[in-house]
Amino acid sequence: MKKIIITGALGQIGSELTIKLRELYGNNFVVATDIRKSSLEVEQSGPFEILDVMDGRRMYELAKKYQVDVIIHLASLLSATAEENPLSAWQLNMGGLLNALETARELQIQFFTPSSIGAFGPNTPKRKAPQDTIQRPTTMYGINKVAGELLSDYYFYKYGVDTRGLRFPGLISYLIPPGGGTTDYAVEMYEQAVKKGKYTCYIAKGTYLDMMYMPDAIQAIMDLMEADPSKLKHRNSFNVSAMSIEPEDIAKEIRRYIPNFDLKYEVDYTRQRIAESWPDSIDSLAAREEWGFQTKYDLAKMTREMLRKFEGAV
Ligand code: NAD
Repeated sequence: MKKIIITGALGQIGSELTIKLRELYGNNFVVATDIRKSSLEVEQSGPFEILDVMDGRRMYELAKKYQVDVIIHLASLLSATAEENPLSAWQLNMGGLLNALETARELQIQFFTPSSIGAFGPNTPKRKAPQDTIQRPTTMYGINKVAGELLSDYYFYKYGVDTRGLRFPGLISYLIPPGGGTTDYAVEMYEQAVKKGKYTCYIAKGTYLDMMYMPDAIQAIMDLMEADPSKLKHRNSFNVSAMSIEPEDIAKEIRRYIPNFDLKYEVDYTRQRIAESWPDSIDSLAAREEWGFQTKYDLAKMTREMLRKFEGAV
C-alpha cells in the first residue's frame, strides 16, 4: 500500500485505522472520507473529503484525483441497524460496495472491505465455524455480507481486481462508540463499569460470540493487504478472531479491577435473535496459514487496557 482512500472513515474502525495508516505511510498518503463531518483528529491530521458512497462518480473522481492505489471500503449499516431498516441496508451496503468495486476495477487498484461473523447463519457449525462452510444467514446484514464476499471474489476472478477481506467478529474499542452492531454490549459494559459500576446487558447470559480488540483488527487489515498474493488461496473473506466469550466472562475480568461491578440482564430479542443465529466461535486457521494472522490481545489484556482508557476519560 502506498496511497490509500478510506470510505466511512469516521466510524469505529475507520477513525483508528486512518490514524494508524497515517503514522505508517505519512499523513498525506491516507485520504479519509465520510458522509458527515466531525471535529475528529481523522479530519485534521490529513486529507479529508465528504463522500456519500452512493455517489459512485465522486468516489471514482476522488480516488483518481489523489492517485490512490488502495481503496478501503468501510461505510455500511451494521447488523442491528440493518435489521431495523432492511431496505436502506440493502441499498447502502450493496450500492456502496458496488461503487467501491467499480472504482477499484476502473482504476485497477487494490480493494479491501470487511465481512463479518454475520455472514454465517443458524445452520453453520456452531463451534469453530470453518473458513469454508455453510453460509445461510437470516439477517439482512448477513445477506449483504455474503453477497459482498461473492461480489468481491467475482471482481477478482472476472476483472483481476486485487480484492481482499476479513470476516471480523465483534470489535472492541474505546475511541468511537460502536455503530449499531450486535456486539456493542461489550464496549458499553466496560464504559458503564467505570462510570456507574453496573451494566444492564441486552444479550442473554451464556451467549457466546467471537470478539477482537481493535489494534489486532487494524494489524490484521494491514497484514492481509501486504500479504504475498501468491500465498492467498482465499480472498473474500478470511475468518479472524481473538476470543469466544459470553457477557459473564467480561464481567468476571472487570471484577478483578472493580470488585462490586453489577451485571444485570434485560434481553433485547431482536439483537438476541441475531446473536443466536451466529456461531459461538470461528476458526482462523486459513488466515494463520495463508498470511500469518495473529493477535496480541486476549480477554485479560484487553480488559486491563479498556478500563484504563475509560478511567482516563472520566
Ligand atoms: P460504523 O457504523 O462505526 O461507521 C460507519 C461509517 O460510515 C460512519 O462514520 C458513517 O458516517 C459512514 N457512512 C454511513 N453512510 C454513509 C454513506 N452513505 N456514505 C459514506 N459514509 C457513510 O462502522 P464500523 O464499525 O467502522 O464498520 C465498518 C465496516 O466493518 C462495516 O462494513 C462493518 O459491517 C464491518 N464490521 C464491523 C464490525 C464491528 O464490530 N465494528 C464487525 C464486523 C464487521
